[in-house]
Amino acid sequence: MFPIQLPRLSQYLWTLCVHLVIATFLLTVADSFNEQDYLVGRKQVTHNPSELSDAQFLEYSNLSDKQHMREAIRNILVPRVVGTGNHTIVRQYIVQSLRDLGWHVELNSFHDTAPIVGALHFHNIIATLNPQAERFLVLACHYDSKYMENVAFLGATDSAVPCAMLLNLAKVLQEQLEPFKNTNVSLMLLFFDGEEAFEQWGPKDSIYGARHLAKLWQDQGKLDRIDLLVLLDLLGAPDPAFYSFFANTELWHMRLMALETRLSQRGLLQRYMSSGVSQHDPTRYFQPQATRSAYIEDDHIPFLQRNVPILHLIPMPFPSVWHTPDDNESVIDYATTENLALIVRLFTLEYLHGGVAQTK
Ligand SMILES: [Zn+2]
Repeated sequence: MFPIQLPRLSQYLWTLCVHLVIATFLLTVADSFNEQDYLVGRKQVTHNPSELSDAQFLEYSNLSDKQHMREAIRNILVPRVVGTGNHTIVRQYIVQSLRDLGWHVELNSFHDTAPIVGALHFHNIIATLNPQAERFLVLACHYDSKYMENVAFLGATDSAVPCAMLLNLAKVLQEQLEPFKNTNVSLMLLFFDGEEAFEQWGPKDSIYGARHLAKLWQDQGKLDRIDLLVLLDLLGAPDPAFYSFFANTELWHMRLMALETRLSQRGLLQRYMSSGVSQHDPTRYFQPQATRSAYIEDDHIPFLQRNVPILHLIPMPFPSVWHTPDDNESVIDYATTENLALIVRLFTLEYLHGGVAQTK
């Protein structure tokens, strides 16, 4: 076990209008981490995922619902700026979809003011399989889209596709997740509201929902119930590259790498890395390097600052269409989207099965 080293958030970073500071060095994941156990949590919880047997791996890998994925993307892929009618429609769609699948869903609603638009009513969506669980694997994304003057910005990668992937996970794994409605280690899906800045990215104009919820849960003593917060953002474009950003979740990044390798070796990924536009290791999504100096500001920051272990599934570099009107349906690569969704589903099942094994 070792203490979590939190990077200090320099004040000047908040003044940047983009939420990316380019990485300046890379580490090889395997070389920089020797700990045997999977260390997560402020209570120094040790959690071992249960590696899936070949039979389980094949069974779970063959589960998918591509039609549902497209339908979910279509339902979310509208301009959905906080406070607009579309934003309400998308929120209701997410809430109803999960309730229909038997999830416990609640809204965390609050008021805040934003530049340009003024007073707003925000709603984070919190969906749990077992609201009484002691610990959660949390998969998160943001469902609002960016306000742009005179542009109907759709935010396909930012973050309609990540939200659709979470809904699709609930749909595809409906049967497999059923037992985790009664376990102590369970699953939470979190849809943050108000991630986007209205005028200029800064500490008071961005991640409205995440800032509110992290503080609320700290005040309520609930943050320790989050084993690991996996934040999905800017997904759906072809050939993403993911790096490990945080030492205390490096072994979880390696689990994602291992799952990707296992899938590719069995030929279970679609049109894998064949778009031809890759600028990095063309053979894989999850890269065997870590980066410690990239500072990407996103919904995880208020949780990171409160010592919640974070796995940030955001590609580096960002998709080229980021925060442009071109972040629309045409940028979505459905093969990549399905491949990533599959890796996240298997990761989730490994994690939850490990939780059951642990508490037996
Ligand atoms: Zn954005």
